[in-house]
Amino acid sequence: MYDRILAAVDGSGPSTRAYREALRLASDQHAALKVAHVIDLGVALAPWAEMAFINYDTMDAALRESGARILDAALAEARTAGIAAESVMLETDVDDPAAEILAEADRWGAGLIVMGTHGRHGLAHLILGSVAEGVIRRATVPVLLLRASDDAAPAA
Ligand code: AMP
Repeated sequence: MYDRILAAVDGSGPSTRAYREALRLASDQHAALKVAHVIDLGVALAPWAEMAFINYDTMDAALRESGARILDAALAEARTAGIAAESVMLETDVDDPAAEILAEADRWGAGLIVMGTHGRHGLAHLILGSVAEGVIRRATVPVLLLRASDDAAPAA
């Protein structure tokens, strides 16, 4: 039913839980799996960043390093499950990870997007996270959302 499944991960508990479901689905459907993480460079470009003495290069490097760790952990989990997943690191500088996830789904021809309902900014969006909301509002393919669960430990 699904040939290509795109899992959006941010290393949070709900994202990890969603990713595990993506692994199960990919195995069950014999689908290709791609895991995507978006780094938000907008944080370091914000007008207040200079006043807060945020160094752009340091922030850029930190975001890339943490993004790579999140993707590596996801790929390792896929390998353990016997699934040959691929990964992609995307960037936004306008604080819109959802747009990047949707663009990647479109480019790659994903038939399903899998993600959590909350992420690292979950407290600010208790009902439905902003990234999840942004994706489901604009997606042209089905989106599978998994909410937080007490037993889902963060991946990284
Ligand atoms: P949020 O809207 O931040 O609460 O996040 C909801 C879900 O969107 C998370 O559980 C992840 O599956 C996904 N997500 C959030 N931020 C990112 C990101 N930077 N890169 C990839 N996926 C993300």
